[in-house]
This record gives sequence, structure tokens and C-alpha cells, in this order.
Amino acid sequence: MQATAVEDGDSWIINGSKQWITSGGEAELYTVIAMTDKNKGARGASAFILEKGDDGFSFGKKEKKMGLRASSTRELIFRDCRIPKDRLIGKRGLGFIIAMRTLDYARPGIGSIGVGLSQAALDEAIKYAKERIQFGQPIITLQAIQHMLADMATQTEASRALVYAVAKTIDVNSKDFSKISAMAKLFPTDTAMRVTTDAVQILGGYGYMKDYPAEKMMRDAKILQIYEGTNQIQRNVIGQSLHKEYAKNS
Ligand SMILES: Cc1cc2nc3c(=O)[nH]c(=O)nc-3n(C[C@H](O)[C@H](O)[C@H](O)COP(=O)(O)OP(=O)(O)OC[C@H]3O[C@@H](n4cnc5c(N)ncnc54)[C@H](O)[C@@H]3O)c2cc1C
Repeated sequence: MQATAVEDGDSWIINGSKQWITSGGEAELYTVIAMTDKNKGARGASAFILEKGDDGFSFGKKEKKMGLRASSTRELIFRDCRIPKDRLIGKRGLGFIIAMRTLDYARPGIGSIGVGLSQAALDEAIKYAKERIQFGQPIITLQAIQHMLADMATQTEASRALVYAVAKTIDVNSKDFSKISAMAKLFPTDTAMRVTTDAVQILGGYGYMKDYPAEKMMRDAKILQIYEGTNQIQRNVIGQSLHKEYAKNS
């Protein structure tokens, strides 16, 4: 986190940039975390609201991406960007905590995209397997194909159950849910990558062609393992929680 925010009379002056922001340039409002006290580390970060059109706030080019191409991704650029004092969210120094808390709430949402993508890829694979005749029979009658579909369906169902269970727990207990929130992002998105890759496989050569939706689903699945914290980071969050819980209980 390199962008800075400096107090100046009744304003904050923001300088720096933010890379790869979803809906950058389209959205009217932006939550930006910037350093207000660099030497305080995480406690030196603060959160601000920025509006499209603020003086000194501009956008980079629309990025060309492997997938998620229906959503624009741009850099946010701040050059002596002046915003009113009351655009600070919460208190000075709470930016990191606000960011982590926001991720806790947002991660199961990414998991739910994984569930939808897995289900769509499974539906396409079943439809194709029923239509495609090889060696005189629809390929869905082949045990090898049925086993792939069985794994895809089981993993999709497990992802759905996890996302619903975690969302329900968060609704009931809004305190400490970083671990289960990370799980609800990790499992469904790794599943979406596996299931969409298997869907391409079941469609054979057509799976690789843009005429069929499977290849797009596979490209779109990849980002789910990267943004909102990579899946390595989700494993870190879960692992650190387990470590803390074990220390408390032993
Ligand atoms: C299409 C797209 C949209 C995005 N939208 C937004 C957005 O709207 N808002 C926003 O703030 N960001 C957004 N991002 C940024 C995104 O959240 C980051 O790219 C992502 O969190 C990974 O950070 P990084 O790219 O710096 O990877 P790096 O941190 O450089 O990671 C590189 C590799 O090292 C691994 N790694 C790094 N640190 C560790 C560690 N401690 N332990 C284990 N492995 C580690 C990572 O898992 C990864 O495999 C977007 C990115 C993309 C591509």
C-alpha cells in the first residue's frame, strides 16, 4: 500500500495509484485505503471515499484480460487529489482493519460466483455428453465420463452447501468469521477451476473452441483463485486461525 493521504486545512491530499480495480472508471464511488502515517505500518492506513470527477483523480487504460472480460479493470491514479475532510471513513488509522473486515464479508460472495460457474459448467458438460455420439453411443453412457460428472456434481454441491452455511453463520454471529469466510472463498473457487477444466475436457475439441461456452467459463474461473486475496492467502488465513485456536485451547 503506497498511496498517501496528507491533511491540508479542510482537505485530504491523496497521491499514488491503485492497480487493477474492478469497475474502475465505471463506478461513481470508490473506497480507497491510503497511508496517513507511513511509519506506523498497518496502523498508519486510513480509508476514504472518492468520487469519480474529484479533482486530481483519473483512470488508466482498460486492461486486456484472460477472462472476466465483461467487467472493466483499470488503474486509479491520484495526483494531488483534493477531497473534503469528511470523506475519511471511520477514524484515522483504521484503514487496514476496515479493509480486512470488508474482505471477510466479501469473500463468501466470490465463493458464490464459484458455485454458479461450477453449476453452469456442469450443466453444459451434461448437455453435451448426452448429445455427443462416439463409438455408437452418447458419451454420457461411458463410465469414464460419468465418473467425471459425478465428481463435478459432488464438488459443486459441497461448494454450495459451504457458501450457504458460512453466509448463515455470518448472519447469526457477526464477530469473528475470518476463517470460515476464507474457506467459503477457497473451496468453491478451487472447485470452479477444476469443474470448468473438466467441462472443457468432456467437450473434447469443441471445449477448446469459442463456439461453445466451456472455454470462457474456464478462463473466468481463474480470476476467482486470484482476486479478493489469492487462494494461497486464504490458506494462510485459515492456517493462522487454526494456529491461534490451538494456542488458546491448549
Ligand atoms: C481482474 C482483476 C481485478 C481486480 N480487482 C481488484 C479490486 O477491485 N480492488 C483491489 O483492491 N484489487 C483488485 N485486484 C487485485 C487483486 O486483489 C490482487 O492482484 C491479488 O490480491 C493478488 O495480489 P498480487 O497481484 O499483488 O500478487 P502477489 O501478492 O504478487 O502474489 C504472487 C504470487 O505469490 C503468492 N504469495 C504472495 N504472498 C504470499 C504469502 N504471504 N504466502 C503465500 N503465497 C503468497 C500469491 O498467492 C501468488 O501466487 C484485481 C486483480 C485482478 C487481476
